[in-house]
Amino acid sequence: MKSTCQQCAQALGWQDPARICSFECTFCPECAQALHDRCPNCAGELVPRPRRTRRPTAVAVSLLRRRLGFGRASRDHSAPTSDG
Ligand SMILES: [Zn+2]
Ligand SMILES: [Zn+2]
Repeated sequence: MKSTCQQCAQALGWQDPARICSFECTFCPECAQALHDRCPNCAGELVPRPRRTRRPTAVAVSLLRRRLGFGRASRDHSAPTSDG
């Protein structure tokens, strides 16, 4: 995920709106509008970039936990847990 507009070099954070082509050429919304949503590098269509809601490190941690099987360790249906 690129962090600057390739047209005007404006900083684009991972929560900022941006537009990308299929090659991930990245542009700010203003430049994308000026380019008529057409990538000047590959002539591809520029579409809104999905915004991230979590930091990459947090996603990496949760992926690792799922891979190690921590994700479903809290519920074990073989033992009843209703005695409160
Ligand atoms: Zn721009
Ligand atoms: Zn492109």
